[in-house]
Amino acid sequence: MLNIILFGPPGSGKGTQAAKLIEKYGLLHISTGDLLRQEIKDETPLGLEAKNFMNKGLLVPDDVVIGMISARLDAETEAKGVIFDGFPRTIAQAEALDRLLEFKKAPIVLMLALHVNDEALTERLLKRGATSDRADDQNEGIIRRRIEVYKNETSPVANYYDKQSKLVNIHGEGTIDETFALLVKELEEVA
Ligand code: AMP
Repeated sequence: MLNIILFGPPGSGKGTQAAKLIEKYGLLHISTGDLLRQEIKDETPLGLEAKNFMNKGLLVPDDVVIGMISARLDAETEAKGVIFDGFPRTIAQAEALDRLLEFKKAPIVLMLALHVNDEALTERLLKRGATSDRADDQNEGIIRRRIEVYKNETSPVANYYDKQSKLVNIHGEGTIDETFALLVKELEEVA
């Protein structure tokens, strides 16, 4: 299985690039943000709990997210591989993912980390907020907090995979197609 993590701060293009990659490689896209937003829409207990954190720009607790991913992976038997988008976001989540995938004998092959400067991130997210119903994209204070949370809590996850020699850094400030070409170049080496 080709299991890949698409990593990067909010607004770095993970969702956009994941959509293009699954089309090209026939992989499964698992985005914890999308799964959580669906739980909120369905008004499940998990969704109600998650909403309070998401609307403030904070991370949803690890046990909630790990339980959700575990159930999602259990339901999956046929996938050629998975692109994880927005997960793992903490070291505890990375360790839990490694354990889950060890069980399936299908470890993470690569972490592709997108790099975009803070000003461009804020600009992209505000633009997305203007046309989507995502509350967390509509307030500059919340956007800045999400970027801070990424720096403090999430960026150490890159070191975790670097130590396993799986981290590849990607310049993410070009056009969608330019960034996609950089990602494909890396994937061609492992696919
Ligand atoms: P995203 O769609 O990936 O930008 O995620 C939107 C929000 O969902 C984040 O700001 C968090 O509140 C929450 N979230 C998504 N994925 C995770 C995760 N792996 N761990 C904790 N919170 C998450």
